[in-house]
Amino acid sequence: MEYVSGYTCTICNKKFEKNYQHLVCDECHDIGILDVNYDYQSMKKEINKEYFKNNHNYSMFRYHKLMTIKNQNFNKMLKVGWTPLYKSYNLSKKLDIDNLYFKDEGLNPTASLKDRASAVAVLKAIEEGKDTICCSSTGNAASSLAGNAAKMGIKSVIFVPKRAPLGKLSQLVIYGSKVFKVDGDYKKTYEISKEAINKYKFYNRNAAINPHLVEGKKTVIYEVMEQLNFESLDYVFVSVGDGCTIGSVYKGLYDLFKLDLIKKIPKIVGVQSSGCSPFYNAWLNSEPLKETEENTIADSIAVGIPRNPVKGLNAVLKTGGYYMTVTDDEILDAMSILGENEGLFGEPAGVTALSGLLKAKKLNKITKTDKIAIIVTGNGLKDPKSIESKVSKIHKIKNDIKELQKHIKNNEVKK
Ligand SMILES: *Cc1c(COP(=O)(O)O)cnc(C)c1O
Ligand SMILES: [Zn+2]
Repeated sequence: MEYVSGYTCTICNKKFEKNYQHLVCDECHDIGILDVNYDYQSMKKEINKEYFKNNHNYSMFRYHKLMTIKNQNFNKMLKVGWTPLYKSYNLSKKLDIDNLYFKDEGLNPTASLKDRASAVAVLKAIEEGKDTICCSSTGNAASSLAGNAAKMGIKSVIFVPKRAPLGKLSQLVIYGSKVFKVDGDYKKTYEISKEAINKYKFYNRNAAINPHLVEGKKTVIYEVMEQLNFESLDYVFVSVGDGCTIGSVYKGLYDLFKLDLIKKIPKIVGVQSSGCSPFYNAWLNSEPLKETEENTIADSIAVGIPRNPVKGLNAVLKTGGYYMTVTDDEILDAMSILGENEGLFGEPAGVTALSGLLKAKKLNKITKTDKIAIIVTGNGLKDPKSIESKVSKIHKIKNDIKELQKHIKNNEVKK
């Protein structure tokens, strides 16, 4: 908190002081999402490579000075962050890309990148003396809130849309949340959560509205860059729903650049499903975002009305990156490709970014020497139903070695 200098409204640019208490702009209201500003000149004196060398907190809170939270006892919390960044050896060879990296966010405590936002939400709620946090979510925001809140003795109230997958719902039940399944899409779910937050004065963990959460999520790219020794990167591929994650990736890179920790900001590529691509459409036609259908297996990015349009678009526009779409079939293929080549199991939205890279490579938008990071945002075990069709590939045999031999010819195992 000590380096926060104030807030700026992403819609009207109005500035607010550091101790401004509301989550949104007082003139633009709900759409007036704030961006947090920092005093980089002062921060630079403390935050440098040396600071990180002597920093033994291996969780997202090794970066707590670059966020909006007050210093707290982080050891009491679940361990969020400092997930592995893997260099690819198999897929990179097949694609003829020298330096390809996967950030495995599925290894967070509730198995998605959303833990980074939820951990901050829990800390903020405690700072404000609230005992209940509320959110609406397609799944991961909710399950991460439920887990992180449980660990800190905070209650959670959660609204989910009708189509939330079983894996994520089971997490909510086990973490002891009060869960309401709303008859309708994400939009309806979001609206009722908003009403509930106002009526019952719950702490608000709706990611776009709450500017502190993007500040938590940005730690993912801090880690990527630190794990790469702050050496330069050419591209980051990110899957996009509400636009908070991609916005946070830009924010994190911007911070590091301002602190002279990195020499350039990589291009950010936002990947959406062709069944739900409001950001892609807006970017392609240079127009404001329009509501679209929510028609994709990648439930975590099925967001017809994204809540963070400005941060989501700016991430791409300010870095010279681009938006793209991939089909559900391409997403399912990417799930297998990631699993077979890298040993990582991502949920559909978790591999959408990779699916984008595979397509960009085919379109010759990527060259051999480009250094690329892909964020795998969530674990595949959350939604095993999405790959039900692939499970039919399993060989059925009797307990008979001769029958087995029909499948393994010349002592060689083939897929
Ligand atoms: C939430 C989520 C995203 C997208 O983040 P947004 O902030 O909604 O754009 C991507 N992948 C997974 C697994 C998610 O849970
Ligand atoms: Zn405003």
